[in-house]
Amino acid sequence: MDLASFLRDVPDFPKPGILFKDISPMLASPEAMHAATDQLAAMDFGKINKIAGIESRGFLFGVPLAMKLGVGFVPVRKPGKLPWKTNRVDYELEYGTDAVEIHQDAVQPDERVLMIDDLLATGGTMAAACKLVESCGGVVAGCGFVIELTFLNGREKLDGHRCESLITVS
Ligand code: AMP
Repeated sequence: MDLASFLRDVPDFPKPGILFKDISPMLASPEAMHAATDQLAAMDFGKINKIAGIESRGFLFGVPLAMKLGVGFVPVRKPGKLPWKTNRVDYELEYGTDAVEIHQDAVQPDERVLMIDDLLATGGTMAAACKLVESCGGVVAGCGFVIELTFLNGREKLDGHRCESLITVS
């Protein structure tokens, strides 16, 4: 199945100059979602104890993948959303900073965690999410994406973690 055909390009969203990769057509197709989940599972990152998905579109792929692999799912969220005790990592955006949080008890020491998001752009979000998992004592098994914008070289920010994507856009 050609997963790229289930993406819709939306120019100038959310601001001028950004070509937004809209995954709505993929979400609308159970066949495409099954194929994406199967292809992510086939990447075989070795032994995995947990999947961590990044708010919010990382949840949409991370949860079915965790269910398929028979492991638990951990949400990485924007600040102030998680109700229990959290760890926080701040990261730089083009203008200003952002942050992500994780529950302190979401990952146990030495657990191997596969990181999932819908799209790799500059890599700042995923790099921060990896640091969060490591702040809990977890080990990043790798990073999986549905889409990678290769021209932004985001994987260079990922500290040598193995990085795989289903669709590359150059
Ligand atoms: P970055 O930290 O620059 O790698 O940005 C990754 C995050 O921003 C992901 O969670 C994506 O969902 C979102 N994102 C960045 N660029 C785009 C884009 N062109 N289309 C859709 N989502 C994007």
